[in-house]
Amino acid sequence: MKVPLLDLGPQHRTLRQEILQAVEEVLDSQHFILGPVVERFEAACAAYCQVPHALGVSSGTDALLLALMALGVGPGDEVITSAFSFFATAGSVARLGARPVFVDIDPETFLWDLNQVEARIGPRTRALLPVHLFGQCVDLDRLEGLARRHGLALVEDAAQALGAEWQGRRAGSVGEVGCFSFFPSKNLGGAGDGGLVTTGHPDLADRMARLRNHGARPKYFHDLVGGNFRLDALQAAILAVKLPHLDRWTARRQQNAAFYQESLQDLEHEGLLRLPAVRAGGRHIFNQYTIRVPEGRRDALRRHLAEREVGTEVYYPCPLHLQRCFADLGYREGDLPEAEKASREVLSIPVHPDLAPDQRDHVVASIRSFFRS
Ligand SMILES: *Cc1c(COP(=O)(O)O)cnc(C)c1O
Repeated sequence: MKVPLLDLGPQHRTLRQEILQAVEEVLDSQHFILGPVVERFEAACAAYCQVPHALGVSSGTDALLLALMALGVGPGDEVITSAFSFFATAGSVARLGARPVFVDIDPETFLWDLNQVEARIGPRTRALLPVHLFGQCVDLDRLEGLARRHGLALVEDAAQALGAEWQGRRAGSVGEVGCFSFFPSKNLGGAGDGGLVTTGHPDLADRMARLRNHGARPKYFHDLVGGNFRLDALQAAILAVKLPHLDRWTARRQQNAAFYQESLQDLEHEGLLRLPAVRAGGRHIFNQYTIRVPEGRRDALRRHLAEREVGTEVYYPCPLHLQRCFADLGYREGDLPEAEKASREVLSIPVHPDLAPDQRDHVVASIRSFFRS
């Protein structure tokens, strides 16, 4: 039995007619970049994220870049972020000539350790850039308090966290800007690249709308230097068909996670693996279900699962502070030990909404046979 890490086939089969019709409408309208289809999708996203403003952009990476540009982050500035994330989180900071300052993670949740953030704040700090990794929110109330106390901008990397919550508040609704991705492997995935920025500030929304389109207003007159960070109407049309199904898909991801939690807990009690901790008070949307396998056995388990056709991935095998392109930031191995340890131990297993019951059973049986044989 094959169990891919992600299988979009079932959702595309179910929504095929609606998606094709939405694509045809865009083709017939000949309005391919931004425009009314994008605006309708933005309004739906703003409502879903419980924020006043949402703007479609070209990718999650560009969402981060645009947010930091709009906040004026540049050379000489520092942005504090997690050492354990996808590269774009820190890459966007570096691309603006600013310096990413990395914080270690809480080994239970893989989220940055809020207790360590304050010590990294200095005179050059311009913004905090937390990551709601794997679909679980950082404590948004503490985060907001910290940013306020120090007068810092807060940009949420919510690329993996559309619909995630902390105490009823949605990811991307607390910071100055929330950044989302519609990369196909995210919970709401397009048929290509796409992203979104959210904000509660009309002036920031306006600035980002301009920067998204080369800073032009009116057309061909530029007060700002922006870029081409626009969302295609075709992507918006497809995503708009999928968005109403997101909560149902999330519920299935949560059921799959609960199933793993139950079926693998004896292995956890024996210390053979660790299951992901879910913080009470939050809504975890399980973009990934990521276990830890200690004592150098992760790669062997991964091979064992591959032999049984169970797809897995290592998110992420190298923490950001040890990436070669950041060598001149001066970090060394051992500086952020929990992020480093996580990169050696993590393994994400299939949790997507269309996992069939026998596929879930096969994943569990395959993991068990590795530890029990
Ligand atoms: C996917 C992702 C991004 C980048 O999104 P793209 O749409 O692929 O550019 C940024 N940050 C995190 C945490 C992500 O998972």
